[in-house]
Amino acid sequence: MYISDTLSRAALKETYIPKYESDLSYHVNALYSNLAISEEYKNKILLATNSDSELQILKKYCQDGWPTSKNQVDPLLKSYWNIQAEIHVINNLLFKNDKLIIPKSMQNEMLRKIHEGHQGISKCLNLARNIIYWPNMSADIKNLVDQCLICAKFKPNNQPEPLQSYSVTSFPWQRVGIDLMHFNNNTYLVVTDYYSKFIELALLNNKYTAANIIIHLKSIFARHGVPVFLVSDGGPPFNSAEFKSFLYNWDIEHILTSPYHPKSNGQAESSVKIMKNMLKKCLESNKDPYMALLQYRNTPKANFPSPAQLLMSRNLRMHIPVINKKLKPKVVTFSEYKKGFEKDKAQSKHYYNRNKKPLPLLNPGNFVSFKKMPNSDWLPAVVKERLKCQRSYIIEDSKGNRYRRNRIHLRFQSNESCNKFDDVQSNGSPKAQSPVQRENNETRDRQMEENRDSLMDSLCKEQEYHKYVTKSGREVKLPKRIDL
Ligand SMILES: [Zn+2]
Repeated sequence: MYISDTLSRAALKETYIPKYESDLSYHVNALYSNLAISEEYKNKILLATNSDSELQILKKYCQDGWPTSKNQVDPLLKSYWNIQAEIHVINNLLFKNDKLIIPKSMQNEMLRKIHEGHQGISKCLNLARNIIYWPNMSADIKNLVDQCLICAKFKPNNQPEPLQSYSVTSFPWQRVGIDLMHFNNNTYLVVTDYYSKFIELALLNNKYTAANIIIHLKSIFARHGVPVFLVSDGGPPFNSAEFKSFLYNWDIEHILTSPYHPKSNGQAESSVKIMKNMLKKCLESNKDPYMALLQYRNTPKANFPSPAQLLMSRNLRMHIPVINKKLKPKVVTFSEYKKGFEKDKAQSKHYYNRNKKPLPLLNPGNFVSFKKMPNSDWLPAVVKERLKCQRSYIIEDSKGNRYRRNRIHLRFQSNESCNKFDDVQSNGSPKAQSPVQRENNETRDRQMEENRDSLMDSLCKEQEYHKYVTKSGREVKLPKRIDL
């Protein structure tokens, strides 16, 4: 500060020629001798400074005096105009106050050193601003950290987004969600009507195949009609050619939600939870799960009549005494239903959306980081397509593999960072990799690839033998208890 103030006063003199006083000379020389670097490194900086044409002109200005107006200043040096009083030359090195000015050829090296510990933007800025200087240094540091793949990889998860508002379905069994439920070594197909919340449960027995699931769906659709939309996460076997052909023949539109993000198929997720809970309690108390299912279908919810009332326009008889009148058909009109729907939506939205903000939309071509599995690190990819289900995207990784992911598992990266994707050093700097780093990365990538492939292989093989392996690789034995 002392030097700066002294120089500021000196620079304001009309001549623009610094006149060093003896005390100033003492301070600047102390600054030079206090540079905590080896003689060898000092010489390296000196050489780089001497061969930096921009800094040579700057040095000349400092020694011979600045032009009297900004217009006369060399265009390369205009950014120094406002801080000219803070610039000085000591033993052929340039300083801004007590900070060394780094020549262009050494700026990348300095950036790498600053970010060596992979600290965030503000910490890197604080570190650098205290000791070195070049014009636009802050922007360069910001870019470097933004583009660092290592930092991107270990960033925390995105905050949950506000609840997405689904428009009200126009009639019962228009939109139906399907999902698989694993309980007590059994696997079930859970089918839910978005309109009435009526749940159908089908035991898949030992046939975890598209053909078996199609048979169960046909039986259910024969009972309630063919839905217009079928919502699923598109995992096997919902992604098989056989399943697609069934949907095509029955004129059903398949809406895919994102894998590992059950909230995007919220209705199916909530049905799985309800059914699992119900079966657990029945098993524990040795009660009849069919009666429990009937009771669920017959019970009104907070803002709605019962699922059976909404889907079938009547209450279902149970083993609890009821007067005949209660079992006669009664239609709940669409406007009555809509009123309940809006009330329900407002309540759950208010509860869920507290302190949540939507993530910005992504477009094809945007570079992103993504998670292969919910708990894995962030990996680079590019957005290929935004799906009908607004928050779902198709992305492609560096090896050309495509994935479908919810926005919550995607993080926007700057375009530049990913253009440098292929030649990015393991520390995130755009430099060539050392052979050891490259080998380590390749081994890691190969390992991940092999894990993925073996998981997919086991899924396919198990499917052939009519067994089921969960997404986490756990084998699920075959169902028995409830056969619907
Ligand atoms: Zn980093």
